[in-house]
Amino acid sequence: MDRWQNRVAVISGASSGIGAACARLLVAAGLQVVGLARRTDRLEKLRQSLPEDQRTRFHQHTCDVSQESQVDNAFEWIERELGGIDVLINNAGIVLGGQLIDMPTKDIGHILQTNLMGSIYCTKLAAGSMRRRQVAGHLFFVNSTAGVAGYKPDPADESLNAYTPSKFALTAVHEICRQELIQKGSKIKTTSINPGWVATEIVPDETKAKLGEVILQADDVAQAVLYALSTPPHAQVEQITLRAVGEY
Ligand code: NDP
Repeated sequence: MDRWQNRVAVISGASSGIGAACARLLVAAGLQVVGLARRTDRLEKLRQSLPEDQRTRFHQHTCDVSQESQVDNAFEWIERELGGIDVLINNAGIVLGGQLIDMPTKDIGHILQTNLMGSIYCTKLAAGSMRRRQVAGHLFFVNSTAGVAGYKPDPADESLNAYTPSKFALTAVHEICRQELIQKGSKIKTTSINPGWVATEIVPDETKAKLGEVILQADDVAQAVLYALSTPPHAQVEQITLRAVGEY
């Protein structure tokens, strides 16, 4: 991880769950980490919970990634204050349960605007920063097993019906970015992390109760990010699918 010392990692959705776990691990690994999220109080709580000697490496910026102008402002601030972006972890995401056919289109739009467009806004700006500075950076997409299969593993569970298309589209965004960067002669790496169920706030208590111990922890996903980052410059981890042992 030596080559990432003091390099700048931006994590969307760093205020809880997987994003917060990634922030903790990357700050401990010596990176400067910018956490983006809407809940400023939770970002501040995360900063306070870091060991004192690591705290100055965590920077927070309130940002709703579904709003392009807010993403623009956040990335302008990062360029100005920290000099550019070396790692992006597209992690911010929401779930609104229920059947796609019956759900108000406004709600479906909100999911797509956050999970898909939010990642596209951040990716374009981060890739731009890396290419301008000729940095061999790393773009991550925190996707989902739902984004790989494109359908729900359990027909009786409607919690992911409208979420699944947003993540399936993210699989395409990742692959297109990977190919475009190669065409441009860039050495920027891209990695999709596809977890099954993870014990975070996004998962309803009822689902957690059903899963019992067959569930990943946020730190398991953060460790996968760290592994992909630690590979040598010539090697790229394209996809990591993680499931709890025993999960279908
Ligand atoms: P959490 O609910 O704990 O985290 C979601 C994060 O996204 C929060 O930090 C939240 O911050 C942020 N977020 C949501 N909407 C926005 C927005 N408009 N702008 C900025 N930030 C936003 O759940 P997870 O940690 O589990 O989720 C992280 C990612 O992992 C998501 O993309 C999710 O789809 C994915 N994932 C999760 C799985 C699971 O089982 N938990 C399984 C597979 C994938 P705030 O509310 O403060 O804005």
